Amino acid sequence: MKCTKCGLDVPEDAIYCPHCTGDRKTRDIELYRGGAKGGALGLGIGLLLVTIMLSMYDMERGIAAIALVLPIGTFTTGLIIGLVKAKREWK
Ligand SMILES: [Zn+2]
Repeated sequence: MKCTKCGLDVPEDAIYCPHCTGDRKTRDIELYRGGAKGGALGLGIGLLLVTIMLSMYDMERGIAAIALVLPIGTFTTGLIIGLVKAKREWK
């Protein structure tokens, strides 16, 4: 028998799926992994944008500040999106 929620094998006589219930540690790891993945992706996009920006503008005071803040912003956004996405995949 396969669980309709997670698709993993469940013992035939099981009342509930052992993969979907109880094992909270695994699901937390999945959540962190999703967040880390999203954060890394966001950071990558941020650094890419900064690289493009610096190739177009001189490293002035305002640009330097944006170059510093932008990757942090995209990292945070990616992290949140990754966490939300990982959480949604639990269902
Ligand atoms: Zn399941």
